[in-house]
This record gives sequence, structure tokens and C-alpha cells, in this order.
Amino acid sequence: MTAARETVFIALGSNLGDRAAHLARARAALAALPATSLAAASTVEETAPLGGAAQPAYLNQMVRLVTGLTPRELLAACQGIERAAGRDRRERWASRTLDLDIVLFGTRTISEPDLTVPHPGLAHRDFWQRELAELRADDR
Ligand code: ATP
Ligand code: MG
Ligand code: MG
Repeated sequence: MTAARETVFIALGSNLGDRAAHLARARAALAALPATSLAAASTVEETAPLGGAAQPAYLNQMVRLVTGLTPRELLAACQGIERAAGRDRRERWASRTLDLDIVLFGTRTISEPDLTVPHPGLAHRDFWQRELAELRADDR
């Protein structure tokens, strides 16, 4: 049986190394996932680190995917893509080559120890709100 495909929004962020190249490789890797297509990508924005941490600025972008993967499969895939980008997973909000966060997964609400959807950051990250609005305006 084929799972129904759902629309998913993923936030990409990078503040180490060739940030634009990390985002580009992440877009390609997401587009290459099984049962998944990349439907749209927002403008890339540069933002200051969250919480005023002493870190380099981030490049951020949001993409819209259509996928037949489950949320958990997609989370595992995102973590694999982060690792492939050389991400050294230390504490939350540390500088990173690549961060992939699942912002929305269809209309689902998920509250598991390692997966919260909608992502709790959505309510207060203005750049995510802007990117999401841009992708929704472009929905066709
Ligand atoms: P934030 O999630 O606040 O942006 P972060 O992206 O720096 O912080 P990470 O170190 O990338 O945090 O991830 C910490 C944990 O968050 C991961 O182990 C993952 O299981 C969990 N997590 C919970 N909900 C989500 C989600 N919607 N998307 C991605 N990871 C999530
Ligand atoms: Mg994050
Ligand atoms: Mg993350």
C-alpha cells in the first residue's frame, strides 16, 4: 500500500563553512529521498544566531516537500543528511554546518520525546513565519 503523500515544510539552517553550499546540498538530498519531491524553496535569508549567542550568522531557507515518508522516517532522513554535511551534534543551538528541522507535517500534531510537530519554534521565529508565508503564497 502506498501512503498518502503529505505536504511538509522543512527549515534549513547553516552557520559554518560554505553555508550556501550546505543549503544547496541539503535541498538536493531532500529532493532525492524516496517517495519525496521538492515542491518549492523560499528565499535564503541571513539571520543572527538565536538567543544572541556569540556565533557566526546563519543562512536560513525553508522548503516545501511532498512526501510519502512517515514523520519518523523523515526525521531520520534529515538527521542522516545533517551527518553527511559533517554536523557535529553537540548541544542544542550550537554552531552547525547544517540543521534540518521539520516545521509542519501536513496537519499533524506530534508530541514524542524526540519529535514535536508543529515545531515549537514556529510561533516565535519571525524568519520561519516569513519563509512559510512565502511558500504558501507560491502554493500551486
Ligand atoms: P531547535 O529545534 O530549537 O531549532 P536545534 O535545531 O539546534 O534546536 P537539534 O540539536 O538540531 O536542535 O535537535 C535536537 C533534537 O530535536 C533532535 O534530537 C530531534 O530529535 C528533536 N526534534 C524534536 N522535534 C523536531 C522537529 N520537528 N524537527 C527536527 N528535530 C526535532
Ligand atoms: Mg533548529
Ligand atoms: Mg534541529
